[in-house]
Amino acid sequence: MNLNFDNTFIDSLPADAVKENTRRQVEQACYSFVTPKQTAKPKLLHVSEAMLEQLGLSKEDSESDTFLKVFTGNEVYQNTKPYAMCYGGHQFGNWAGQLGDGRAINLFEVNHNNKRWAVQLKGAGETPYSRTADGLAVLRSSIREYLCSEAMHYLGVPTTRALSLALSGDQVLRDMLYNGNSAYEKGAIVTRVAPSFLRFGNFEIFAARQDVENLKKLVDFTIKEYYPELGEPSKETYLAFFKQVTNRTLDMIIHWQRVGFVHGVMNTDNMSILGLTIDYGPYGWLEGFDYGWTPNTTDREHKRYRYGNQPNIGLWNLFKLANALYPLIEEAEPLEDILDAYKVDFDKKSFEMMRSKLGLETEDVFDKSLIQDLEDNLLLIETDMTIFFRNLSQFKKENYLEGTQIVEDAFYKSEELTGEVINRWQAWFQRYADRLQQESISDESRKEKMNAVNPKYVLRNYMAQLAIDAADNGNYSLIDELFQLLKQPYAEQPNMEKWFAKRPEWARHKVGCSMLSCSS
Ligand code: AMP
Ligand code: MG
Repeated sequence: MNLNFDNTFIDSLPADAVKENTRRQVEQACYSFVTPKQTAKPKLLHVSEAMLEQLGLSKEDSESDTFLKVFTGNEVYQNTKPYAMCYGGHQFGNWAGQLGDGRAINLFEVNHNNKRWAVQLKGAGETPYSRTADGLAVLRSSIREYLCSEAMHYLGVPTTRALSLALSGDQVLRDMLYNGNSAYEKGAIVTRVAPSFLRFGNFEIFAARQDVENLKKLVDFTIKEYYPELGEPSKETYLAFFKQVTNRTLDMIIHWQRVGFVHGVMNTDNMSILGLTIDYGPYGWLEGFDYGWTPNTTDREHKRYRYGNQPNIGLWNLFKLANALYPLIEEAEPLEDILDAYKVDFDKKSFEMMRSKLGLETEDVFDKSLIQDLEDNLLLIETDMTIFFRNLSQFKKENYLEGTQIVEDAFYKSEELTGEVINRWQAWFQRYADRLQQESISDESRKEKMNAVNPKYVLRNYMAQLAIDAADNGNYSLIDELFQLLKQPYAEQPNMEKWFAKRPEWARHKVGCSMLSCSS
């Protein structure tokens, strides 16, 4: 195994002076050195070949004993110094103080083909940031993170990646539903990869501690390494940096809205400074289109992180980041202006995104109301978002009466498609057909364009659960099947048609499918 190490993070930023792996407040440091835990019987379950290639590794490398040991934390690769990062965060709207990598351990950074990647293990044992928990991860949540991060990449959504999924061979005790029923589950470790795992919370912790010196070090480092085009540190550069982060955050959330992804825990410690989707916990995919839906049972009461609220929460989180950067800028107004621009940009970009889902190339004054009426219609009866938009691409403007038939598969209960519901759909299809007359693009070309933004295959909640149930019984083949399927989410893949289907009824209220807790 030959990796080209390039450890900018630990080489540039202050380390925790204390070397013991004890739980504590870590001040004036960006990270603590820590050694991953030895595990009983590590076993690789899956490796992402695309990610291997990105890191400059071969398939043979991934079959070596060293690979297995390094990417399960059982061997510290020569001359590397694993570390856990210090960050804080606002959780569910409240400042939670120091959080940090409680069960993530960064192994090293690798440079390959002029790209630098931070490589980290999730579930490899405790760190100074583990607070009251064990630093471990269970198989079910690891399968979910592994499959979803790669699936999101192939959907074109900015995300952290995954290199490998392994069993630790240890048993991990979890109270899955937080109801007093703890049970042992298989422990697992995912190797995650990203240009950087820095979060809003890394900046917030220094601001909260009024440690402006280290805040500045971290901000300057982030700009130099990840936003070098912004130039040398100055107030203007810091503002430009904040503007870039707002843009990237917004773009990421617009992508989530486009594909129907609900993150589930948009705490500021789960917001990447690079605008990447990070920390796949109790996330979920919309099946029936529903702005109020959240997969996270911990959030069931207030639904803070529901689908329709993600753009607002993005803004709320950016407001917290603005507060954290304020000591370096000391002027509120330009920060507020950037936050205000987010709202305007959100309307603009989400409108563009919806127009692309409908295959509209030109702009018309009535497009806003066409889209509004569509969204209202999607809420009339339970309507599968993915199937609806995918099948809509087959609509022919000369045949608007066929509209409801074309999207029929998207309705969970076709018997509800009567009376007022059917009238409203027919009226909408008629409007849509009229509107399409203004477009010069042919039905065939429009279909192609729509199919490039409306995925056919997403990791429906029940699909991940089927892979988990099989894996619990020692059968790992479904992990690979879904992994391969989701590499081409926009392709037809006729032999995979069984995954282009509404959620089966058994999954409607099943734990793991529609109900997920933060326990992982
Ligand atoms: P999350 O809700 O998964 O984003 O986690 C919030 C914080 O709790 C982060 O600091 C995590 O590192 C930490 N954490 C979550 N699960 C564990 C665990 N099993 N052991 C130690 N720390 C954890
Ligand atoms: Mg997290």
